[in-house]
Amino acid sequence: MKYCKKCLQPDTRPNILFDEHGVCYACLYEESKASIDWDARFNELLNIAKNAKAEAKKRGNIYECVIGVSGGKDSTFQAVYAKEKLGLRPLFINCVPDEITQIGQHNIDNLNKLGFDIKELIDGIDGVSEDDMYFYSMPDLDEMKQKGIRAIFLQYYAKEWSQVLNADFSIARGIKGRMDDDLHDIGRFTALDSDLQIANQMIKYLKFGFGFATDEACYDIREGRLGREDALWYVNEYDGLCGEKYIKIACDYLGISKDEFFRVVDGFVNKDLFYKDENGKWKPKFKVGQDFNIN
Ligand SMILES: [Zn+2]
Repeated sequence: MKYCKKCLQPDTRPNILFDEHGVCYACLYEESKASIDWDARFNELLNIAKNAKAEAKKRGNIYECVIGVSGGKDSTFQAVYAKEKLGLRPLFINCVPDEITQIGQHNIDNLNKLGFDIKELIDGIDGVSEDDMYFYSMPDLDEMKQKGIRAIFLQYYAKEWSQVLNADFSIARGIKGRMDDDLHDIGRFTALDSDLQIANQMIKYLKFGFGFATDEACYDIREGRLGREDALWYVNEYDGLCGEKYIKIACDYLGISKDEFFRVVDGFVNKDLFYKDENGKWKPKFKVGQDFNIN
């Protein structure tokens, strides 16, 4: 297990790449931002928006673009950006997660209040069929080209995009966060619309040696809010945790007992990275931020 020399990203993250100096590609991208001509990118985006408007008018469409939204900070930022900065009339598509949280529902309703139209495509799934997976699969590229549909990634064009800016921006426009939670129960304050993700991130930690708090700390390092030492403290304090309340929510959702839940989780723990202590708790063999030899 090797860590990025700049942030705390370990090479156990599937598909991660490091350069020859041991720096991850997310850090390299962040560094490359200083030399990007953002005005040129923004003008490129304005042109795309202009074409979208012209195309919608020609086809008699009410909407000029489609944005996938959860109602959280990033989608609220995208929504308002599309409307206010690009002058677009967007339609939002929201796939309602199973067991949507009250906060998640509030944030989706908030987008409605901000004057946007939302289509809810899936409202809970009983059993999973191929049809249910339809919205998780990419459309055919040739078909998209034929119909003149263009997908864009806003972060590429918007210089101001960051975790903290998107959050402040969206809170100012009415979204709610996990204000009532203890960070020791949830690891980090994002992923608002589903409580199931908290147990999911704990399992990710036990499989790969990093969870929600590492992801957050890496953003903080790259965007200059935390030094590596402070980020280390944060990860050691909060990573891999999931409060009893959220274990229960996951067990109730799955219809299994807590014992059964942990029996299954135990089977997937990476035993090269973790050992069970005398109290039956999984403990890391590695130290966060220090390369670790897996034998
Ligand atoms: Zn990195």
